[in-house]
Amino acid sequence: MKCPECGAEGVKVFPETVFNLLKDEERERFQDGLYFACTNPACSVAYFGENIYDVDTINTALWYKDKSDDVYLCYCNKVTRGEIKKAFMQVGPDLKAIFAMTGACGGGKCRIENPLGRCCHTVIEQYIYELNQSLD
Ligand SMILES: [Zn+2]
Repeated sequence: MKCPECGAEGVKVFPETVFNLLKDEERERFQDGLYFACTNPACSVAYFGENIYDVDTINTALWYKDKSDDVYLCYCNKVTRGEIKKAFMQVGPDLKAIFAMTGACGGGKCRIENPLGRCCHTVIEQYIYELNQSLD
């Protein structure tokens, strides 16, 4: 299913993930159904499907929309991109050591806490890979 705003292909998400990430006033009007995330960083739509939710109706910053350091990569344990970078600077591209140091990827609440309803493992792995490449 394509985003009605930008036409990018959406990523299917659980309705309970959308509900959990909505601001309180939006939750009251929430309708269960099919939902997709628009991961295009240039697009203002966070979720679409049964309803359309712009990023300003979401109670947290989305890692695939916002590239700043204070955005969470691990939502379960609230570990930011900046904290991952800092750990990387200390221990290098050792994923296990970075997880141990930051507490990232140990929450187990990804289904409702992560904006895509998935474990943050691959996202953090990809970010570490990019950081490592940028050092070459
Ligand atoms: Zn879009």
